Amino acid sequence: MNDFLLLTPGPTTVPDRVLQKSSLPLIHHRTKDYQAILERVNANLQKVFLTRHPVMTFASSGTGAMEASITNCLSRGDLVLSFSAGKWGERYRDIARAFGLDVKSFEKPYGEAFSPEDVERALKANPKAKAALITLCETSTAVVHPVEKIARLTRDTETLLMVDAISGLMCDPLKMDEWGIDVVVCGSQKGLMLPPGLSFVALNEKAQGALPKADLPKYYFNFTETLKSQKKNDTPFTPAVNLVRGLDEALGMLLEEGVEKVWARHATIAQTVREAVRGLGLTIFSKAPSHALTAIALPKEIPSKEVIKVMRDTHRVIMADGQGELQGKIVRFAHMGASCTPESAKRGLTAFQDAMEKAGYRPALSR
Ligand SMILES: *Cc1c(COP(=O)(O)O)cnc(C)c1O
Repeated sequence: MNDFLLLTPGPTTVPDRVLQKSSLPLIHHRTKDYQAILERVNANLQKVFLTRHPVMTFASSGTGAMEASITNCLSRGDLVLSFSAGKWGERYRDIARAFGLDVKSFEKPYGEAFSPEDVERALKANPKAKAALITLCETSTAVVHPVEKIARLTRDTETLLMVDAISGLMCDPLKMDEWGIDVVVCGSQKGLMLPPGLSFVALNEKAQGALPKADLPKYYFNFTETLKSQKKNDTPFTPAVNLVRGLDEALGMLLEEGVEKVWARHATIAQTVREAVRGLGLTIFSKAPSHALTAIALPKEIPSKEVIKVMRDTHRVIMADGQGELQGKIVRFAHMGASCTPESAKRGLTAFQDAMEKAGYRPALSR
């Protein structure tokens, strides 16, 4: 049995209820049984994204949905504003570049977040921009962006606000319709408590209006075809049937608890973890900490690799190292989805403290 506790920022713990549903004998997707599941899943996805617009499901990791949002909503030569404050913002930017878009890159040092004023300045200077790309939770630095205020700046313009909420959704609050976000992208293996393998894209009317004009190449990830099928409660291609059955259960669990309560649980656990970390005399790396995970800055003499190894080997707790320039410098302690419980946080903190001590950290001396 796998008794590892996944406190990584994806994949996260998959509840038994979800695992059971995903391991049921296969049913065929062109049947009434599957259609009943699909109908419920699509309706419940809207409740979790807080939108009355369609949410599409694809069989891919989150990056597939990021790419799809670019190829379906934009055309060759379009001006795109990329706001990146870490690895994932950079990925969105790099996808846009890969498809030949005219990308203006705005960057923040790792650990910082864009303010609405930063975005406002960029939008004012670039009124012809077709899209603005931003991450809700920048998982590489554990920073959350003020997406509500940013959406106020784009909602009455021609610029589409495209939000990578892959790790943020159901951890940090996001209200697609109320805030006026045009495109929301998500993945299955973080706040949605599923194994990796599904991705999601929700589009409001403004974003749907952009589909017919978008001339970038695409085939599998075709939003127009997907939406057409979805209207008939169908999918253009073979869906990931068992993952979708797991999704059905996971969405049921989230809605039983209630969206606001799920957010509140993440806020509480995130606060507990941050306070405990500060109590050890350590610093929180992010200037605008997300509820999805905590990035812990380590003193120079303590390599994060060693701490992570002790947690894994001695405590069977898995946390993540920093990415890119942050490798070796931070520990990312995720509290997402079903990994976001008081028990998991406690086990994570115990493991972390012990591993830090074994790596030679002495709180009083290091201050
Ligand atoms: C995990 C993650 C992704 C996508 O990762 P995949 O490995 O493609 O699922 C994208 N953006 C953010 C912010 C993430 O946390």
